[in-house]
Amino acid sequence: MRPGNPDERGPLTPRTATLRIAVLIAALGLTAAVPAMGLDIPGTTTSTSGQAPSAPAPTTTSGTGDTVAAPAPTAAATPVRLRLGSRGPMVRDLQRELRRRGARIAVDGAYGPGTRRAVLRQQKRLHMAVTGVADQRLLARLGIQTLGIASLKVTATVPPGVRMDRWPTTGRFESPFGMRWGRMHEGIDISNAQGTPERAALAGTVSFAGRQSGYGDIVKIDHGNGVETRYAHMSAIRVAEGQVVASGDVVGLMGATGSATGVHLHFEVRVDGIAYDPLTALPPRPGTVLPGL
Ligand SMILES: [Zn+2]
Repeated sequence: MRPGNPDERGPLTPRTATLRIAVLIAALGLTAAVPAMGLDIPGTTTSTSGQAPSAPAPTTTSGTGDTVAAPAPTAAATPVRLRLGSRGPMVRDLQRELRRRGARIAVDGAYGPGTRRAVLRQQKRLHMAVTGVADQRLLARLGIQTLGIASLKVTATVPPGVRMDRWPTTGRFESPFGMRWGRMHEGIDISNAQGTPERAALAGTVSFAGRQSGYGDIVKIDHGNGVETRYAHMSAIRVAEGQVVASGDVVGLMGATGSATGVHLHFEVRVDGIAYDPLTALPPRPGTVLPGL
């Protein structure tokens, strides 16, 4: 279930939106790898919205498929509050609609500052409270059907079952996942000496090994089921595209290529293209990764 090109689809009418949501619900119900994505429930995230809590709150995603398959229980439905740091298919639908209305934003399922600005504009235009938070009323005004999806959560927590075998390197934990300097930091940073080995956190197949804007020299590993890890800013790449790697294999050496202020590994965990907090997929921090910050 890869995110589609936002331009592939035709104009979003309420009817087609409903159909798409129905398809989405079916997909969520059937795909074990995706279910935890949902909505940002007030009170379950920190006020820094998006800043990953040091000890991520456990998700309560039991019965996801059943909940969304049934008609929305109006009384029990949790209010939708998409905001900075929210992520998931609902954010993607919102972004798609905002784009259709002229906003020049990415349809990536991650509610960043650009999405917030577009929401502010719509709220102003529709004479609604200008909050930057997309609630059910705004979504309804934009013609986006929410149905029972309001009972899901959007968090930075990886979907159930997504687990890394090991940490990708050793060093100092420099920076968490979440909002940083007004931008979404889509991974974690670990710093160490130039040339420190970086290892596959999980077995997989190298899907990309080369240079990419911002990331510098980067290796991406496809772990199947839409799960991907990324290792950025390398000083040297040690694998080739298509290569099968075992967990713990060296994939490259630590560096500062791309947009990096110092030598470090920028490590991402993505599912269906959406970045999640790697700490929610990694085993407990080993003694070889020292606390930073
Ligand atoms: Zn980083």
